[in-house]
Amino acid sequence: MSKPHSKKSKPKSSQSIRKWVDQAIVLVNIALVFKGILEFSDPVVGGIQTQYASEIYKVCRPLIDMFYTATKPLLYPVDLFINVLTQIIPTLKSDYFPTMNAGIIGKVLQQMVMPIPLQVGFLEVMKRNAPELWMPGQIIWSTWISVLFYQFSIPVVEYLVDSVKNVGLNSYTEMLYNRKKDDAYKQLLVQKNKVIEQGENDKARLKKEDTQLREALIKDPLTDTYNRRFYSEKIRELFNLAKTQKQVMTVVMVDIDHFKSVNDTYGHQMGDEVLTIVAGVLKKFTPNNGFCCRYGGEEFSILLPNTSVEQAVRLAEMIRTEVMRTSFPSQSELKSTVSIGVASGDFAKRSAHDNLPHYEDLVHIADDKLYQAKTSGRNQVCQSSF
Ligand code: GH3
Ligand code: MG
Ligand code: MG
Repeated sequence: MSKPHSKKSKPKSSQSIRKWVDQAIVLVNIALVFKGILEFSDPVVGGIQTQYASEIYKVCRPLIDMFYTATKPLLYPVDLFINVLTQIIPTLKSDYFPTMNAGIIGKVLQQMVMPIPLQVGFLEVMKRNAPELWMPGQIIWSTWISVLFYQFSIPVVEYLVDSVKNVGLNSYTEMLYNRKKDDAYKQLLVQKNKVIEQGENDKARLKKEDTQLREALIKDPLTDTYNRRFYSEKIRELFNLAKTQKQVMTVVMVDIDHFKSVNDTYGHQMGDEVLTIVAGVLKKFTPNNGFCCRYGGEEFSILLPNTSVEQAVRLAEMIRTEVMRTSFPSQSELKSTVSIGVASGDFAKRSAHDNLPHYEDLVHIADDKLYQAKTSGRNQVCQSSF
């Protein structure tokens, strides 16, 4: 168990205040002593003219004056205190120094804590030599008064200084605390913004990755056309839409002619180049509402919602002509052609009672038309609508 604190140690600040006050008292007393010596030795004020006094006066006057002027401010409060006292104690009258006598000094000394034998000794001496000893008397009187004044003023000064210091310290601590809080808040804000920024970057990256993944799921990597999985879902969706909205829906089947011989003659890599370039032509002519898909191998299919058979055939002809004209960078002498089958189902002409076809029927008819184009000599477009 720790020892309980028996004594409360005074804070350092009040100790230093005491030190300053003690020094002030010493200075005040020295000032008063000098003042007394001056007045004693002054021919007019002191009234006692001796060789010795005049000598002191002559030599010391400027020096004493200087010191007295410097310590004068410290005397003001003491003088004020004495003036108040002289009002309270009538025997002191109003004038402090000239009225001082041994009797009064004795009274004062009696009220103070000076050891009794010492007081008695002083009193005796002063009673006997009262008229001549006014100077030491006033020094002692002033000393005690100033000691009293400063000792009494210590708690007041301490209290005031402590209060001011506390207020100052409190507001300084509060300011420091607020500043630290501000700094911490700013740091937090920066970190938070970094996290948000990081989060947004991650979000953008994930979104991009997600898009890429989705694309990879529905796209053919070689030709960048939609894959067969996407095709199967899309044709069903568009077909049902055409049915409910009573619109025309067209399927175009495209197959590269004699493609096997390209592979055989120029190699598989050249075959890939032909596939990519022909797919590029198909994509170029696919309208915004259409979908160009790789159906399998060197066969493609274009889904054309809300497109009549005439519009689709015009488009197919443009594709056929463009492919015919296309040359391939790796084999400039190589030319390629495509055969195209077009099939349209017009639901505007049909009622719900009609035996409505299935989307697979449309694909079969387009396939048939493609086969017809192949058997009719290739590089041509065959069509059918129902
Ligand atoms: P037709 O005019 O009757 O369509 O004759 P074809 O030679 O084009 O048709 P066939 O079905 O005989 O040959 C298709 C060839 O396409 C066979 C296959 O090796 C090739 N093929 C399929 N997919 C690819 C591919 O991704 N790259 C390459 N280079 N060749 C492919
Ligand atoms: Mg072919
Ligand atoms: Mg084929």
